[in-house]
Amino acid sequence: MRQKTISLNTQHKEYNENFINDDHEWINIDTPMRADAFKMSPNEKKEIIAKHFKAIMETLGLDLEDDSLQGTPSRVAKMYVDEIFSGLLPENKPKIALFDNKYSYNEMLVEKNITLYSNCEHHFVPIIGKAHIGYISSGKVIGLSKLNRIAQYFAKRPQVQERLTMQIGHELQEILETEDVAVVITAEHLCVSSRGIQDVNSETVSAFFGGKFESEAVRQEFNNYLIL
Ligand SMILES: [Zn+2]
Repeated sequence: MRQKTISLNTQHKEYNENFINDDHEWINIDTPMRADAFKMSPNEKKEIIAKHFKAIMETLGLDLEDDSLQGTPSRVAKMYVDEIFSGLLPENKPKIALFDNKYSYNEMLVEKNITLYSNCEHHFVPIIGKAHIGYISSGKVIGLSKLNRIAQYFAKRPQVQERLTMQIGHELQEILETEDVAVVITAEHLCVSSRGIQDVNSETVSAFFGGKFESEAVRQEFNNYLIL
């Protein structure tokens, strides 16, 4: 099995999504967006995408008069904007409420096997994965399903797995007001399994370890929960 592990030290985090990594390189984990990304309404975007997708289908030689194909351009446009790429719209970001950690639970909390459907930004085909998230409370706790929602919000963009992992990790650090956050993602990339090299067994593993998770013992505890 081919594996790729990206481990990121986050203690030098500067501001927003830009920070310096262990090799003293500036890292920007924002999804590259145009300056005018939000000028058009979602409905205007759907209209334009449908028009262009129709042109792609026609270029491929498909007969759009056919009953079965007729609605495809508008279905794809709606799916792009409202579903699989809805994480590009900041207004779709889940609203998060934190609660006081009344029972003083100071141990690690792990939410594992969060199902992720994303799409590779190089081929626009699916990335199907699982996210495993751990954090140590700084005094506040989050509703568990919110961890799933945050992971899924960032997955619903054209992505590369490394950036997805870091975006989820940094967002959780900000929301939970702690550096002590870990995110591990294991995923199958359909651009690897269904085309190109056609390797159906390979999985990509990426990891983000912040704060206390940079220590070997804490990381080990997290890993132990993942194999339970
Ligand atoms: Zn790809």
